[in-house]
Formats: sequence, C-alpha cells, structure tokens
Amino acid sequence: MQDFDYVIIGGGCAGLSLAYSLEVNHKLRGKSLAIIEPREKYERDKSWSFWKTFEHGFDDCVKKSWTQFEIKTEKGTKSHSSSRYPYQCIDSGLFYEKILNTLKKNTNISFFKHKKDIGKNSSIIFNSVSDKQENNGDLWQHFQGYEIEVERDIFDDKILTLMDFNCDQKDSVHFFYLLPFSPKTALIETTWISRMDDARELNYSDQIHDYIKDVLKIGEYKINYSEIGKIPMFNTKNIKGDNIIQIGTAGGMTRLSTGYTFTNIQKQSSYIQKNIQSMNKLNNFSIRKKYQHLDNIFLSVLSNNSSKMIEVFYRMFGCKTDTIIKFLSEESTFSEDLAVIRSMPKKIFLSALVGK
Ligand SMILES: Cc1cc2nc3c(=O)[nH]c(=O)nc-3n(C[C@H](O)[C@H](O)[C@H](O)COP(=O)(O)OP(=O)(O)OC[C@H]3O[C@@H](n4cnc5c(N)ncnc54)[C@H](O)[C@@H]3O)c2cc1C
Repeated sequence: MQDFDYVIIGGGCAGLSLAYSLEVNHKLRGKSLAIIEPREKYERDKSWSFWKTFEHGFDDCVKKSWTQFEIKTEKGTKSHSSSRYPYQCIDSGLFYEKILNTLKKNTNISFFKHKKDIGKNSSIIFNSVSDKQENNGDLWQHFQGYEIEVERDIFDDKILTLMDFNCDQKDSVHFFYLLPFSPKTALIETTWISRMDDARELNYSDQIHDYIKDVLKIGEYKINYSEIGKIPMFNTKNIKGDNIIQIGTAGGMTRLSTGYTFTNIQKQSSYIQKNIQSMNKLNNFSIRKKYQHLDNIFLSVLSNNSSKMIEVFYRMFGCKTDTIIKFLSEESTFSEDLAVIRSMPKKIFLSALVGK
C-alpha cells in the first residue's frame, strides 16, 4: 500500500483550500499528497459569505459582493455601509472546480475514497473530519436556504439582510438571512441558534415559504437551489495522534459566536503552507485567545438569555460599521473591542462573566 508525505482527510473547504495553497505556493515539489474524500461528485452545496478583510485568492469564485447590509428587528432597522470591507458570497461549486482543475495537473496528488486505501505510517496527516456528535445539549447554528427566482424585479440587490428577527423565536434565537444576487434572484435562509431539541424549529421549508409569502409578499417563485446545514457552536471532538493536525471546523476554525469559518480556513491554510517544513514542531494556527474568551462569554449569555438576544444584536450593530466588521472578522483593535463590549447590556454580560 502506497505511503504519502502528506494526507488530507476530507476534501471539503479546508482540505481543498490547504491542498490548493500548498500547490500554488510550490510546497508539493518532490512531495506526494493523498486527499481522502468519500463524495461521488462535487457540486454547489454551500454559499460561503464573509466580509473581505484580506486577500483570499478566490475573487473569481465570488457570486456577488455588497457594500451595504441591514439588521432588522421590531424596534427598527440598523443600516450599514462599508466600501472598505465588502461582504462577499463565494459559490462553492466554482470554488471546487477552480481548485480541482489546478490539483489534477499535479500527478503527485492522488484522490482516494477511504482511509483504508492508503498507508499512513510516515505521513503528516491533516484532518478535517470531526467525530460524530451525539446530541448532548450543545448549541448549533442550523439553517436551510432556497435560492429563488421571480419574474418581476423585486429585490434591491445593493443591500443584503444579515439578520431579520421579525419572525417566531420559539424560545430560541431565530432570524432570516437574505442575499439578493439580482433584482430577480435571492438566497433566503431561515437560521436558528438552539440545541436542536425542538422539532418545531426543523420544518425549515414551511418557514421559508411563509416568509416569502407573508413578509416579502411574493406569490409566484421558482426554487433554483437549496442548501441545508448545521454549524457547531462548540469545539468538536476529533481523531487524535502525534502526526495529526486538525484543520477547518475540526481544527477550531469556526468562530463559535457566529459560525463564520471560511476566512479562518484561508488564514490557517496560508499559515500551514508557510510553515510546512516545521509543522510537526509548531503550534497549529488558532483563533486568537481574546476572541475565544469573548465568544465563551457571549455563548454563556446566549444559553441563559435567548429572549434577550435580539436586543444584544441590535445594540452590537449600533457600533460603527467598520468596528463591528473588524470585530466579527477578528481584525479589531483593543479600542474597537471596547466599543463593542460597551454596546452590550451590562447586567447580563457581567453575570455571565462572574458565572465563568
Ligand atoms: C450549508 C453551509 C453554509 C455555510 N455558510 C458559511 C458562510 O456563509 N460563511 C462561513 O464562514 N462559513 C459557513 N459555513 C461554515 C463553514 O465554512 C463550512 O462548514 C465549511 O465547509 C467548513 O469546512 P470544512 O472543510 O471544515 O468542512 P467541510 O467543507 O464539510 O469538509 C469536510 C469534508 O470531509 C468529507 N468527509 C466526511 N466524512 C469523511 C470521512 N469519514 N473520511 C474522509 N472525508 C470525509 C466530507 O464529504 C467533506 O467534503 C457554512 C456551513 C454550511 C454547512
């Protein structure tokens, strides 16, 4: 059985991003790489969105960029505009195609369906697959989205709705997310932050149809694409070993308070390719401690005060646009962190801090 210098378990966002980064930075010269991925075919299955705060190298896979976004609550709408940090949406279909076309040109890169198909004795292994998670009361961000098409121009495609809280919360946190790709097409997602133990939250399809009919006042539409997912708001458990480096969501690249992962995956890939010669001795790339600490406090508040979360988000988005974008993208300065912390309702955050 063939051994490889490097093995990547899971050819999803993190596995392919790492392989691509190694390849285009010439770190695979004279090295062999195996990618283990069970899926039969690659097709669009996710829309990765984020504020572009750094060069990620995938501008040709961006479906749409926006400079304006809104948060809607019963109290009113917070509108934001930033041309410095546009919000981008990457089409995963284009992303997979771009990367696979590049990787297939290198005959030292091989693809396998199962771990058992290769030897791994002397390999450095990059793992992006988490162990199956029992439902033991952890918080998840779970959602489904439809990309719909209408006949008339309905959507204002200059402004995306990051969160519309004008919907039934059912003792959890619930909002709609709307990415208008053109006046006639938009991705509309129903998103919950909860323990996934209330079956009423899981009829996503009905929720989206009701929102389209009752809130957007759209009668006739065609569904062109659907995506569904759940993102852990906790650190996952993974296979362990001396020569195993965890990447992607399995490697702690998900910002636990928001679910944003794509930009951290790109930063982690860049870090690994730069340090590939000494990866065995170095610490893995991780989200900075201050954000981990603040996210733990935030999650503690969320666990105990779900009914107050609309107020928390409304206040947070009262901060200056670039401050809030930098904070959510882990690029904020100390004074910007303070501005966000000061915007929070003091009493519940203090009790979460004391309770820690
Ligand atoms: C629908 C959806 C939308 C998202 N939208 C955003 C967003 O807008 N912005 C953002 O920042 N983040 C988003 N995320 C979160 C995160 O960016 C993605 O989950 C991202 O795909 C994580 O990359 P990953 O490589 O860790 O996991 P994945 O991309 O899921 O890759 C894991 C791979 O491992 C493979 N695999 C599974 N089992 C095995 C096995 N036993 N052996 C080998 N391989 C295996 C899977 O087929 C998959 O290809 C979204 C997540 C989902 C699910």
